[in-house]
Amino acid sequence: MPASTDDSLDPPRPDHGGFFSAFRFSGRALALVWTTNHPLTLALAVCTVAAGLLPAAVAWVGALIIDAVVAATALSGETGAVRMGEIFWLVGLEAIIVAALAGAQRGISLCQALLRAQLGQRVNMMILEKAARLDLAQFEDSEFYDKLTRARREASSRPLSLVTRLFGLAQNLISLVSYGVLLVQFSPWAVAVLVVAGLPSFIAETRFSNDAFTLFRWRSPDTRMQIYLETVLAREDNVKEVKLFGLGPLLLDRYRGIFRRLYGRDRALAIRRDGWGFVLGLLGTAALYGAYAWVAVAAVASRITLGQMTMYVALFRQGQAAVAASLGAISGMYEDNLYLSTLYEYLETPVPKHSGTRLEGPEAGDGIRFENVSFTYPGAESPALRQIDLHVRPGESLALVGENGSGKTTLIKLLTRLYEPGEGRILLDGLDLRDWEGAALRARIGVIFQDFSRYQFPLGENIGVGDVAHFLDEARWRKATDKGMARDLVESLPQGYATQLGKWFRDGQELSGGQWQKIALSRAFMREDADILVLDEPTAAMDAAAEATIFEHFRRLTENRIAILISHRFSTVRMASQIVVIEQGRIIERGSHEELMALDGHYAGLFSLQAAGYR
Ligand code: ADP
Repeated sequence: MPASTDDSLDPPRPDHGGFFSAFRFSGRALALVWTTNHPLTLALAVCTVAAGLLPAAVAWVGALIIDAVVAATALSGETGAVRMGEIFWLVGLEAIIVAALAGAQRGISLCQALLRAQLGQRVNMMILEKAARLDLAQFEDSEFYDKLTRARREASSRPLSLVTRLFGLAQNLISLVSYGVLLVQFSPWAVAVLVVAGLPSFIAETRFSNDAFTLFRWRSPDTRMQIYLETVLAREDNVKEVKLFGLGPLLLDRYRGIFRRLYGRDRALAIRRDGWGFVLGLLGTAALYGAYAWVAVAAVASRITLGQMTMYVALFRQGQAAVAASLGAISGMYEDNLYLSTLYEYLETPVPKHSGTRLEGPEAGDGIRFENVSFTYPGAESPALRQIDLHVRPGESLALVGENGSGKTTLIKLLTRLYEPGEGRILLDGLDLRDWEGAALRARIGVIFQDFSRYQFPLGENIGVGDVAHFLDEARWRKATDKGMARDLVESLPQGYATQLGKWFRDGQELSGGQWQKIALSRAFMREDADILVLDEPTAAMDAAAEATIFEHFRRLTENRIAILISHRFSTVRMASQIVVIEQGRIIERGSHEELMALDGHYAGLFSLQAAGYR
């Protein structure tokens, strides 16, 4: 996957559709949160409304207390004592309201913490479930892979963040309306000053959110390269080469270089963002203190009471904070929305439909046919396979021979429907692969690729993955192990099938390349109903004698089945009933070993070359 490291590459500006795009995904994010947990979402809503209303109530009761105190000091004797009772009552009331407010705020943070965990899990599941349904071709497409990485990196925390901000906005708006109701009694202009003072910061925030997102998108290939370098430098399977080739400093330099470039842009954005934020914030402060002076003048002129003055000042202060918080929430939502668009872009990637439904073909026993099959990888310039015609019947074996890159593995990928032919068709029992039902087709084919997976699971499960229907079936493991000639290996391990393989987890046992291949081979035999067995160089790490024994054995096991193998060892290849020589995606020779030797062409030349090496 190529990663752009081009410094001159300027981030493209996304078309974000203006202010209202801040709300574009809010509905979906809300629905996501709601469906994740109804009670928690409801509790969050209730606490939000309470936390929105109560601050105004505190300010209002506060004003009543001060006015009562002022009135009480003006009186004396018995009337003063009566006033004291009222004051105590009001102070108690305020304490209760403040306690309720604290409860509501705690409730909000509790609901959020619980929802965050559930929602993070849910979104990650959505991302992974989607990944499981995608085609191999999509994973090999670097642009798509980019989307997947971006979705995984950020979006799992974003839906809740969007909802949190939406609720925060609602809470602040409720507060603002309640402050407005109280402030209007002083002057409608006061309300206007409150709102207008926040606007400049808001506009700046929105603009910078957009820049931040653009930056995030633009550097995604670089970020991926960094992640990759981390794995090369810090993963056990790469350490050998990194050490012996002395790659450490070189790779670290590259890692540092990427950081420097990314940091440069980050810093520029952060400085602009905070610089403008400060300047525009000053406007808000000026408005607040202007209003403060105005209220003070009104109090001196006795147009309002002392209690009202403290209330109005508090309302201004809190109101301004609420305006700032609302605007911050909106610009944050804007950012969340931009990020969520990445998530949904990924989740909505069309999954190619394999529409087949048939469970068997019209000509059982016909085997596999390739009819004039050509295939070009997406984005590749020349075809990897051209006009392939083949027919293999049950009981026959086919060996594919050719240089690296000639198209052998591609042929297997088409046969296993990891890719679909661009031209021509592939038939199994007379039925086009496209018309086969997915599971029915998979059940027929056991395949081991040269780059098979080494699962960091126990040994038994490593074999069990060959057939998920019998994943934990130990009797099956045993049979498969016998066929894969891995029995000695299993018996040599003290914990047998329970041995944890690989080095990632505690007490993991690492195997040699050849031992892993035996596990992989056994895996191919888990599908007992599979009548097509494909081995794509799975024995390359074994010695020649072991490979020959395995294929001899393999041939016996596949007597009524179809065996397809790719190997560079002619001692093995010659055992196949049909040998096909591929060069640059074309079949250039075909026949049995004897026929090809008699032909004295490409195959005969290669065979003699290798035989000479053994003499
Ligand atoms: P072989 O198995 O014979 O060594 P492959 O079938 O793997 O060869 O590759 C055939 C050709 O297709 C090569 O030129 C290779 O570069 C190209 N190729 C293989 N895999 C991909 C892929 N995922 N995307 C694009 N091109 C590919």
